[in-house]
Amino acid sequence: MEHLVRNCFRTGGYVFAKKADNIARGHVISRIARLASNENPEPPSSAVIESGSNALRQANRYPDERVEILISALKKHYGDYAFVTGVGMDGVIETLIRTLVDPGEKVVISTPTFSFYALAAAAQGATVVSVPRNTDFSVDPRTMVAAGRDAKVMVLCSPNNPTGNATPVHVVEEILKAINGILFLDCAYVEFSDIDYLPLLKKYKNLVIGRTFSKVHSLAGLRIGYAFVPAWLQPYYIRAGTPFTVNSVSAVAAATALEDRDHAARYIAQVRRWRKRFAGEVKYPVMPSDANFVLVDVSPRTGDAMVADLAERGVIVRSCRSFSGLDDHYIRVSIGEDWENERFISMINSL
Ligand SMILES: *Cc1c(COP(=O)(O)O)cnc(C)c1O
Repeated sequence: MEHLVRNCFRTGGYVFAKKADNIARGHVISRIARLASNENPEPPSSAVIESGSNALRQANRYPDERVEILISALKKHYGDYAFVTGVGMDGVIETLIRTLVDPGEKVVISTPTFSFYALAAAAQGATVVSVPRNTDFSVDPRTMVAAGRDAKVMVLCSPNNPTGNATPVHVVEEILKAINGILFLDCAYVEFSDIDYLPLLKKYKNLVIGRTFSKVHSLAGLRIGYAFVPAWLQPYYIRAGTPFTVNSVSAVAAATALEDRDHAARYIAQVRRWRKRFAGEVKYPVMPSDANFVLVDVSPRTGDAMVADLAERGVIVRSCRSFSGLDDHYIRVSIGEDWENERFISMINSL
């Protein structure tokens, strides 16, 4: 019966880090260092757990379709912007592409980068065009504009997953000025950088900035993301989305987490401390990072071989082989708790 499945889903798909997990389970009896998914290692705060539990008591009712509790928390935190929400930022990306892109229209992606943009665009029947970054992983605005002037959507991740570097505001602005479509700026890791793109929203009506509760806010398991959108786009996004997208537990937990500035600040400080230590103490070249992970060049080994060797030693990191446009000698390592980071440094330096 498989012939009934659409072509775009016959092969490929998102790559999860499960294999390394199984290797580690087979070798390590005590705890495993989980540094593959860029999560905050600290569990949600007790205030978040309490508000989420209370919401669960009323889960027999459909959630508020306007996600008012979260939207008003976002406005209180950031100011009076237009917001949309989704099931993770992945859900926001999928709905945004569904809102904007007809089959055959062009989606331009700056690569190597997060794989889900191309998957979501292809599922919508878009023509996906990849624009390679420079060799130092910086973005050349001229090649982006040349490829994407006529694109419906252009996607730029900053700080970029998996390379870790952020794109300066003036480069983003140069692109925004020159294109006719929407620029989707994925800011999943912006809390770990010193960059602020929000002022651009006042000036450009074709900018969407995606954010998530999965990383700094410790809520990856609740699947909740959001975006700053131009006001004109918001009603169309809502029309294109599934009804009752964001569940009531996630909405209230996220609203509570947003107010817990100490929780976020603790992990941001941890990240800043350990980015320096990784750069100074790992014997392989570590790329400069503005995110809560680093890209490590493990040549002459391959990323896959290094991931397997580290997994045997109780450290799970991400091979970058599945990131198209990146050579197969990189791993991506999240910044976790002290003992996890320490074990990673001592294990990789023994290999
Ligand atoms: C983690 C991540 C996301 C998606 O996060 P959600 O868990 O779906 O909110 C989006 N973009 C990038 C670059 C990411 O690394």
